[in-house]
Amino acid sequence: MNSNEIDIHKELKKYFGFSQFKGLQEQVIKSLLNKQNTFVIMPTGGGKSLCYQLPALVQEGTAIVVSPLIALMKNQVDAIRSLSSESGIAHVLNSSLTKTEIAQVKKDITSGLTKLLYVAPESLTKEENVNFLKNVTISFVAIDEAHCISEWGHDFRPEYRNLKNIIKQLGDVPVIGLTATATPKVQEDILKNLDMCDATTFKASFNRPNLYYEVRTKTKNIESDIIRFIKQHKGKSGIIYCLSRKKVEAIAQVLQVNGISAVPYHAGLDAKTRARHQDMFLMEDVDVVVATIAFGMGIDKPDVRFVIHHDIPKSLESYYQETGRAGRDGGEGHCLAYYSYKDVEKLEKFMSGKPVAEQEIGFALLQEVVAYAETSMSRRKFLLHYFGEEFDSETGEGADMDDNVRNPKAKVEAQNQVVK
Ligand code: ADP
Ligand code: MG
Repeated sequence: MNSNEIDIHKELKKYFGFSQFKGLQEQVIKSLLNKQNTFVIMPTGGGKSLCYQLPALVQEGTAIVVSPLIALMKNQVDAIRSLSSESGIAHVLNSSLTKTEIAQVKKDITSGLTKLLYVAPESLTKEENVNFLKNVTISFVAIDEAHCISEWGHDFRPEYRNLKNIIKQLGDVPVIGLTATATPKVQEDILKNLDMCDATTFKASFNRPNLYYEVRTKTKNIESDIIRFIKQHKGKSGIIYCLSRKKVEAIAQVLQVNGISAVPYHAGLDAKTRARHQDMFLMEDVDVVVATIAFGMGIDKPDVRFVIHHDIPKSLESYYQETGRAGRDGGEGHCLAYYSYKDVEKLEKFMSGKPVAEQEIGFALLQEVVAYAETSMSRRKFLLHYFGEEFDSETGEGADMDDNVRNPKAKVEAQNQVVK
C-alpha cells in the first residue's frame, strides 16, 4: 500500500477528529507511507506524534515507537486507546510488565491487532524482545526525541546508540526520526547514528514571532528588578528559572514577601508538593512559579505571559525550549534573561568535574549563550541562525520583537579622533 491508495485526510478525521493537517504533517506522512526513511524537525507542540501515529493506524503490521520517557509513552498509549474500541491497538513494552501482560502484548502483536508498540530503548535492546520482533510484521520504526542519540543534544541517552543495530535486525523497515532540536550538529549526529543519511528531511520553522526577547545585565538589584517586572504584568502567569534549588526557594520567598503569589518548584521537593505547586500554577491559584529546569516537561499552559531566566541557561537549546513555554496561545510572551559573566564562570566551574569530552561540549554550548547575551544584532536572527535557519531581520515575522532591534545600542564613538 502506498500513500496514493490511502485517503489520509479521511483517516485524519476518522481517528483524530481533525479536518486539517498541521504544518508539514501531510508531507511527512506521505513520505513514511512511501516507505522512505524520514526525518522530522519541528518545534515542541508542532504535532510530531501524529506523523507516526496516523501511518501506524492505517497500515498493516505494528509500528515500533521508541521514546525515552515512560510517562509520555503511557499518555500516548491511553490517547490512542481512546480512539478505538480495542485496547490492544496500542501497547507499551517495558520491564515493569508481568509475564502475563507480556504474553498478552505478544499475542496482540502476532494477531495483527496492535498498531503501535511503544518501547523504551533499553527494552528494545533485550535479545528476547528483538527475537520476537524479528518474526512479526513491523510497519516502521519511529524514534521520538531522536536528539537523545547525540552528545550535542540536551538529553543524551547512550542506549539510543544501539538502535541502529537493532533496527537492522528487523529487516528492511522504514525509519522515522523526530526531534525538536534544530541545531545542525545534532541533526547530523542523528542521521549518522541512525544510519539514515538518505532520509527525506522535513524541517519546520522555529520562529516564534509573538515572543519578545530581552537580555538585561544582572546587577545586585536583580530582585527588585524582577519584582518591578512582575508588577508590570500584574495577574499574568509567568515562570522564573533559576540554576539552583536554593535560589528557587530564595526568590519564591522574596516574591511572596512582596505580595506576589508565587510557588517554588524543584526536584528537591517531594512529589506531592511538586504536583500541588504545578496544579496551582495551571489552575491559576498562583501567578508565578519559580523553578529549576525540572519544571516544564509536558506543561501545556497556553497563556504563560513571561519567562524570566534569573541565571543564564547552559545552552541556547535549553533557552529556546524554556522560553518556548511562553505565549503558546499566540498572545504576548516576554522572555527576559539576566546575564552576568560571573554566572558563566560558575557554570564552567560546575562542568569542570565532568569527563573531558563532555566538558568541551558544555563549554562550546555555553559560549553560544554568551554570544547571544552579548550580541547587538537581532536576537531572533541570532537564535534562528543557531538553529540553521535564515531570518530576515527587516521583513521577517516578529522582526522588531527584541530589545536590540527596538533600542539599538548607540555606536561607540571613537574617543581619540579629535586631535587638538
Ligand atoms: P510535539 O510532539 O511536536 O511536541 P504533539 O504531537 O504532542 O507535538 O502535538 C501537540 C498538539 O497538537 C497536540 O495537542 C495534538 O493533539 C495537536 N495536533 C496535532 N496535529 C494536529 C492537527 N492536524 N490539527 C489540530 N491539532 C493537532
Ligand atoms: Mg513529542
